[in-house]
Amino acid sequence: MTGFRHRLDIAVIGAGVLGLAAADALARRGADVVCFDGRQPGQGQSGGLTRTFRHRHDDPDVVRLAAESLEHWRTWEKRSGRVLIGPEGTVYAGMDDSDAEGMRLQGVRHEWTDGERAGDVFGPLAPVSGPLLVDPGSGAIRARNTIDALSEWVGDRITPQDVHGVSVPEDGDGVELQTADGIYRARHVLICAGTHTPRLAAGAGIGIPLDCALHARPHYPVRDQFQRTPLPCWVDRSGAFGETVYGSPIGTTGRYVVGLIGNGVDVDINNGLPTGTEMEAHVRRLSAYVERALPGLVPEPVGIRVCVMSKLPGGSDALGAWHTPGVTAVTGHNLFKLAPVLGELLADSAQEDRLPDELARVTERALEPA
Ligand SMILES: Cc1cc2nc3c(=O)[nH]c(=O)nc-3n(C[C@H](O)[C@H](O)[C@H](O)COP(=O)(O)OP(=O)(O)OC[C@H]3O[C@@H](n4cnc5c(N)ncnc54)[C@H](O)[C@@H]3O)c2cc1C
Repeated sequence: MTGFRHRLDIAVIGAGVLGLAAADALARRGADVVCFDGRQPGQGQSGGLTRTFRHRHDDPDVVRLAAESLEHWRTWEKRSGRVLIGPEGTVYAGMDDSDAEGMRLQGVRHEWTDGERAGDVFGPLAPVSGPLLVDPGSGAIRARNTIDALSEWVGDRITPQDVHGVSVPEDGDGVELQTADGIYRARHVLICAGTHTPRLAAGAGIGIPLDCALHARPHYPVRDQFQRTPLPCWVDRSGAFGETVYGSPIGTTGRYVVGLIGNGVDVDINNGLPTGTEMEAHVRRLSAYVERALPGLVPEPVGIRVCVMSKLPGGSDALGAWHTPGVTAVTGHNLFKLAPVLGELLADSAQEDRLPDELARVTERALEPA
């Protein structure tokens, strides 16, 4: 093709953690790949400094994906020469044996600790009665280091332009992308555009029921006496302190992020109502939680990240991927930790023009209402 028309083999739309991971996997395999994004890499849902890497999920297939992902994370660390997941571990409250079933089935190391010994595994925590589940092989993802490393590896395969639309031409000759500087025909397109994935995928006839809402995640200073040891990531589903919450250290900065989990804890941005007062209410709830549950933190937030959270009908941790000849699209919730393994699976999908079985299985469950 000439003039305003361009031809390419594999196009990745989006330079968030998933698009970059897929583009990197394809580049390592020697594929001809171009990654489109009009913004700097990692400015969408993959922005910010920290994420939790944890093994525990309700779906044992996702536990397996997480365990496989961790192996790839260690390879990424060696390649980048940087720490990408810290040694902090994750502590969970409000769990029983059935919640650890996926970890047991997949052979993921985990331990139980009595509530009285809570201080040994999570110093800032107030006394708790139930047992705590500990996932020692997990930790806090260094999100920005990850994006920096991936951007470097993908390099000039990233082209700074947005894709306005995707369509499947009737002549059957590839998939068309409309961009600001021309029209492309690709043999395969991977749509990794975060919250924009459903709109772009619709152009290829793929329907994705993704719900998007605003999420508030304030961070709090860690008190001096707890600064010396690495603090674990935290998941509290016990209800003992009145909220269902996750938390994570921000590397070694002495700050700790806390956010609400569950239905109705994100602010609807589709109904046109003002969102400010709802966001403030969520921050107040979190600060009150910190005061009750985490006396080792100062309950005054010193910063906040407000971002768009996306969920499939399966809710928290649901992951979906869709395929039609020439196009694969991916989206869901809490996908940062899975980026290395999803990058490989998406690369398989682009090269083989099919949906890998692992992704087909988890997608089926992601579409069942939580
Ligand atoms: C506050 C918060 C906390 C989270 N906590 C965790 C956690 O603890 N653990 C975890 O594993 N996950 C967590 N997640 C989820 C995780 O961050 C996301 O699932 C992941 O970052 C999604 O990556 P992505 O590449 O799919 O999307 P994004 O990072 O949003 O990337 C999509 C990219 O596509 C680009 N794009 C959009 N439209 C177009 C277009 N038309 N043309 C070209 N490019 C386009 C965007 O600019 C963007 O760069 C959290 C998310 C948030 C917001």
